[in-house]
Amino acid sequence: MTGGSANSRKALSSYRRIVIKIGSALLVDRKTGLKSAWLDSVCSDIANLRATGTDVLVVSSGAIALGRTVLDLPSGALKLEESQAAAAVGQIALARAWSESLSRDGIVAGQILLTLGDTEERRRYLNGRATVKQLLKIGAVPIINENDTVATSEIRYGDNDRLAARVATMIGADLLILLSDIDGLYTAPPHIDPEAKFLETIDAITPEIEAMAGGAASELSRGGMRTKIDAGKIATGAGCAMIIASGKLDHPLRAVEQGTRCSWFAPSETPVTARKTWIAGQLQPAGELFVDEGAERALGLGKSLLPAGVRRIDGHFHRGDTVAIIATDGHEIARGLVSYDADEARQITGRKSAEIEAILGYAGRAAMVHRDDLVVTGAIRAEARSKEEAVHAG
Ligand code: GLU
Repeated sequence: MTGGSANSRKALSSYRRIVIKIGSALLVDRKTGLKSAWLDSVCSDIANLRATGTDVLVVSSGAIALGRTVLDLPSGALKLEESQAAAAVGQIALARAWSESLSRDGIVAGQILLTLGDTEERRRYLNGRATVKQLLKIGAVPIINENDTVATSEIRYGDNDRLAARVATMIGADLLILLSDIDGLYTAPPHIDPEAKFLETIDAITPEIEAMAGGAASELSRGGMRTKIDAGKIATGAGCAMIIASGKLDHPLRAVEQGTRCSWFAPSETPVTARKTWIAGQLQPAGELFVDEGAERALGLGKSLLPAGVRRIDGHFHRGDTVAIIATDGHEIARGLVSYDADEARQITGRKSAEIEAILGYAGRAAMVHRDDLVVTGAIRAEARSKEEAVHAG
């Protein structure tokens, strides 16, 4: 897959639209507050990029970290209302810092604070997209963050890696750069495993790549390698390349441009449509459908998911909600908009489509998730495929 012109590394200036995500630890020092010299160096890199005609959007973390420094809150985990208050204080300072720093290069900043529903509900998603596009049209640099002041633990993105990927796909960016305190993806966490190897190019996010990301986030920030890989799945599936690079030194974008070591994730060569991108990138599916191997094979062939292939259902959802489709080994293989409310879906689970009318009392859709509303998001396993080949061969 490498070597093709669309799918190999290019100069940053040859991208049309770049989303840059900046982690809290890069922007904020817990003792001294905002790292303004570093921020100025990033803003001058952004100005250089824009001078080549590339649109730039920034997803900036740091509101909570900055607010906590301003308020002099003790270290350790914050209670929800404390982090909401810290974000309220920190976000003002953060936005001002971006605005002032960009203005040194004659660039106007526009602040956008998103809540989960702004990207998960289709109508709000389209509205949000229109606002961001308008900002770009007038030449402003959108500075985006989660609206942490109103976000609650259940209703939040939680990490800006996935938020940035969601923004990138929403506005049709062709590159997402995650600047963080690590320079890319390793085969194992490098601080634990001295044998860990650095991966420069990732052609596809396979289950092996996912396994390398390890478990939960590091203690340094909300997002660890796990959320970066999740972001990669959202972005690359929509045809947007992704780079994980270190932001530790000044001028981190110039460094990427000049070939510093970083991990590059190739965009999918067959990106799904904008609507399917929205379905695939949903961060909180309303339920889960556990399917058998026959259904996994069928999904791999681009077919609809029929009730007969569903073994079990989890969650409370309504018709039209997004559900995750889970294979027998527990990994997610697809997402889609479900045709039935959860209670009806449970009644027809494992049954033939011809039986639906007798069970529900009306002639519903034959598919639990129709293929037009379905996106394959995970690897269809070889064993499921080989059985299909055997069926064909026989
Ligand atoms: N939205 C959070 C903040 O600005 C950061 C989330 C993250 O670390 O990914 O403080």
